[in-house]
Amino acid sequence: MKCRKCGKKALVNLKAYRISLCGDCFLEFYRRIVERSIKKYRIFKNDDKILVAVSGGKDSSAMASVLRELGHDFELLHIDLGIYDYSKDSRDKVKELSKLIEKSLHILELRDYGFTISEVKGKKCSICGTAKRYIMNRFARENRFTVIATGHTAEDITAFYLKNIAGGQKEYSEKLLPRTEPFDERVVARTRPIFEMSEKENMIYAILKNLPLKLEECPFAPNPDWKEIVYEIERRKPGFVKNFVRGIAVEQHRFEKKYCSICGEVSTREICSFCRIRSRFISSK
Ligand code: SF4
Ligand code: ZN
Repeated sequence: MKCRKCGKKALVNLKAYRISLCGDCFLEFYRRIVERSIKKYRIFKNDDKILVAVSGGKDSSAMASVLRELGHDFELLHIDLGIYDYSKDSRDKVKELSKLIEKSLHILELRDYGFTISEVKGKKCSICGTAKRYIMNRFARENRFTVIATGHTAEDITAFYLKNIAGGQKEYSEKLLPRTEPFDERVVARTRPIFEMSEKENMIYAILKNLPLKLEECPFAPNPDWKEIVYEIERRKPGFVKNFVRGIAVEQHRFEKKYCSICGEVSTREICSFCRIRSRFISSK
C-alpha cells in the first residue's frame, strides 16, 4: 500500500477517509483537519487566553501537541483525582508532556476540596465529571482564562449524543458543540478542538510524535456501552462518526440562572452538585 500523498510506503489506512498515508503525511493531514475545524467553527477567538485540560492520555496529549504545532499560546491544567497509582502516573506523564511541548502546567488536587475519587461510593464517573468541570471552571475564571479546551473525541461526542437522545435529554447536547459560549459571567467558554478526530487518529498522532502517554485505563472506567455501540456502527459504516459529529446541529439551551447558596458558583439548583457531593464527605468525616 502506498501513501496517497507522496507515494512512499503507507503506514496507516484511514477507512473513514478512504485514504492510506505514510507517517509524515498523516501528521500533516491530522494538523490540517484540526486547523480547519478551529477556523470553521471559530473554536478560538483572537484575544482568547486558553487553558488546555490534560489527563495524560492520548487524546488530550495529542490535542495539546497539535495546538502548539499550530502556534496557539496556552497553559496546561491537570487535575489529580486521587485514584491510587493511576493518578500518580497521569501526573508524571503530564509533567513530561509540559516539558516536551514547553507549556506551563498547573496541577490541582481534588483532595484539597475534601475528598478523592477513590473514596467515592457509587457513581464515581458522574461525580468525577462534576468535580472536574467545577474545578476547571473555577480555576480558569480566577486566573482570567477566557476558554477551556478539552480533548473530547468524535467517539465521545457521538456516544454522549446518542445516550442523551436515548435518555430523552437532548438538551444536554449543547455540551457537544465545538465551542460553547458561557451563559453567565462566572462560566468560562468551553471548546473541543479535536472533536472531529477519532481515538485511533489521536493514538497514531501521539505515537508518531513520541508523546509521553499513560496507557492503562482508569481502574474505575465503566463498561463503555455507548462507546461500544459507536465503535460497532463505525466498523460497519466507516466514516459514520466523522459525519455524525460534523452534522450535529444543536440549539443553545438556556438554563435558568442561579448561584449556589454555599459557594456562589453558577448552579441550576439552590446548592450546586459539587457542594452537595462535598457535604456528604465532610459530614461523614
Ligand atoms: Fe473519572 Fe476514572 Fe470515571 Fe474517567 S473513568 S470519569 S477518570 S472515575
Ligand atoms: Zn506520504
